[in-house]
Amino acid sequence: MANDPVCKMNVEVDMASASAEYEGKQYYFCSNTCYQLFMAEPKKYTNEDTPPNHSCCGGGH
Ligand SMILES: [Zn+2]
Repeated sequence: MANDPVCKMNVEVDMASASAEYEGKQYYFCSNTCYQLFMAEPKKYTNEDTPPNHSCCGGGH
């Protein structure tokens, strides 16, 4: 199990829509939307203080 750094949802690694490596760590995403948001601002989403961004799901999960 991994945690989507953008929306903070738990993501099954096998089920992840996208993944990315950033600063030596592997990140998994629930959707391509989260992947795109992460790649645009990786520093923001690797910061623990950033609140979840539910653009991918409209807050539905
Ligand atoms: Zn997500």
